Amino acid sequence: MQQSPKRARKNKNKDKKKAVEKSMDCRKCGAHLTSDEKAIYMKLVSRTASSFLCMDCLAEALHCERKAIEERIRYYRESGNCVLFR
Ligand SMILES: [Zn+2]
Repeated sequence: MQQSPKRARKNKNKDKKKAVEKSMDCRKCGAHLTSDEKAIYMKLVSRTASSFLCMDCLAEALHCERKAIEERIRYYRESGNCVLFR
């Protein structure tokens, strides 16, 4: 006697709302983004961005050096004023 396979349960959990995670990768090169990279992107480019660039690609897009962006990040973080950097 064979066990009848369990009926495929409807997996309602699948649709469970979880925090919508927006793309965490650089939209240009696909590199994984740190929260700093997303934050600085929002700060420098668009506060409502839904896709982001990594530091390298952002530097390229802004025609500046990656180092300049790193310094910005440090500046915002140290200033402690920006909610994006905590
Ligand atoms: Zn990139």
